[in-house]
Amino acid sequence: MGFTVECCENCGTLFNYPGFGSKYCPLCREEDTKRRDTVKEFLRSHGNANMYEISLATGIPEKQVKQYLRDGMLEIPEGSPIYIKCECCGCDIRSGRWCPSCAARLSAGTKGSYVSVGEVPRESMGPGKMRFIGRHEKK
Ligand SMILES: [Zn+2]
Ligand SMILES: [Zn+2]
Repeated sequence: MGFTVECCENCGTLFNYPGFGSKYCPLCREEDTKRRDTVKEFLRSHGNANMYEISLATGIPEKQVKQYLRDGMLEIPEGSPIYIKCECCGCDIRSGRWCPSCAARLSAGTKGSYVSVGEVPRESMGPGKMRFIGRHEKK
């Protein structure tokens, strides 16, 4: 794979795309890197946060934050109340697009290597499972 000429997804400029990563021109990529750093910095200093909180605090749209997670640039910290879902089986993952087992299955079929593999959180608690812990429900 070499460079191909692509349209920047953000501003529409034609540029040499290296074949991986976001389809952004060098200028938008730089902006993007800054935004990623902002999010990373926020998570470093604040610990667990959900996409909404990150978006609110950094001014970056939730959709964009989710994209960073999918890209594997960011990882949801262990113990977060929410995770993103494996695009294949729907289980919780901390980053990327697939859980390790789906990625293994997918890459076995195509002989490709997948970089977007996310770790499965050690304590996977689905919604509803904490209902009876520590407090009684009030109507
Ligand atoms: Zn651009
Ligand atoms: Zn999966």
